[in-house]
Amino acid sequence: MPNRLIYLKQPNSSIKSDRNDDRLKLSYDYLILAIGSIHNDFGTLGAKDFCLSFDTIKECNAFHNNLIISLFDLIQTNKKELNIAIIGGGSTGVELAFEVKNTIVELLKHKSIAANNLCINLSIVEQGATILSNLADKIKEKTIRLLNSSGIKIYSAEKVTSINQEFIFTESGKQIKADIKLWTAGIKAPDLLTSFGLKTNEKNQLLLKNTLQILEDEHIFAIGDCANFAHKEQLLPPTAQTAHQQAKFLANSLSNWIKNNVPLKKFHFKNQGVIISTSKTNAVGEVATNTVGKIALNKKLAYLSYRFLYRRYQASLYGYPRVIILIIIDFLSRRVKPNVKLH
Ligand SMILES: Cc1cc2nc3c(=O)[nH]c(=O)nc-3n(C[C@H](O)[C@H](O)[C@H](O)COP(=O)(O)OP(=O)(O)OC[C@H]3O[C@@H](n4cnc5c(N)ncnc54)[C@H](O)[C@@H]3O)c2cc1C
Repeated sequence: MPNRLIYLKQPNSSIKSDRNDDRLKLSYDYLILAIGSIHNDFGTLGAKDFCLSFDTIKECNAFHNNLIISLFDLIQTNKKELNIAIIGGGSTGVELAFEVKNTIVELLKHKSIAANNLCINLSIVEQGATILSNLADKIKEKTIRLLNSSGIKIYSAEKVTSINQEFIFTESGKQIKADIKLWTAGIKAPDLLTSFGLKTNEKNQLLLKNTLQILEDEHIFAIGDCANFAHKEQLLPPTAQTAHQQAKFLANSLSNWIKNNVPLKKFHFKNQGVIISTSKTNAVGEVATNTVGKIALNKKLAYLSYRFLYRRYQASLYGYPRVIILIIIDFLSRRVKPNVKLH
């Protein structure tokens, strides 16, 4: 048996495990790598310096503060306009666009300002022919209609080539003015994974067997965003749905292998559909069924399914009794808190 060790290091830790090495060592028999992903700017010139991304809570809060400050700035000064651009028209970018729009509407309502007194331009820039390329046409069309009616502009077939303080430049020669630039155009696994000498794809994700074991070592597994797993010759989408199914599957399969010597099973992804929240009370989406395939959901049903899924994920983390308490807390908070967090 090889000497199976992982090394841990807390960025600010003063703990020392031995004299020459400040890392903690942890021995293992089986290892599951589930270290997720970070945004992928594909080396686009200026993206690192001028775009905000959403890898950590800190970055999400930074964006929220930036948006609120920019809106107050627009309201209180003689600034003429505010331009916000989201790069990437996948489900994260589209949901974010609706969320930003709703925040703007709520804030202006809070300040009793008519939206048409201000010039706020919100846009999505997508390199593909259309946004939400992997969703059914019906859902795409519905979402595009909703984006249009919310005043969110879509630039499709526009590959971003570089970004500066003021503009986003595209391959076709467009210059899109943007004060706030948000990057949601793809993910990659942390660079750390390429330092182990294991086989990875161009997004740093580990290549896997259908049992979720890495190719080089049957004691090491990978799941979620850091894993490269193909379903019907297509890479699985980096979503919570994929990560959740793989985690549940592996918990069973691996414990059966270890405890009962049952050979590892093959993982099969079951696409249960996609739901995109478009406002506090609406959503669009489709669910996959065993009998009639994919069904498009109407606004209310999509919204209820979205809320149900959210609570179900909470329940898998905290258990149902706590989720009931959380539902009550959320209900009461909505009565006393403003609709937009202002700080
Ligand atoms: C803005 C945004 C919105 C999204 N919305 C949705 C959505 O609505 N629905 C959906 O299905 N998916 C959504 N996703 C995608 C979803 O969040 C991911 O697919 C899912 O979280 C992947 O799960 P994971 O367990 O692989 O990784 P993660 O949930 O990212 O967990 C990985 C964990 O590993 C930790 N870690 C990383 N490196 C190390 C290290 N070296 N040592 C120790 N720990 C480490 C990280 O800190 C993190 O806690 C969204 C993603 C983003 C960014």
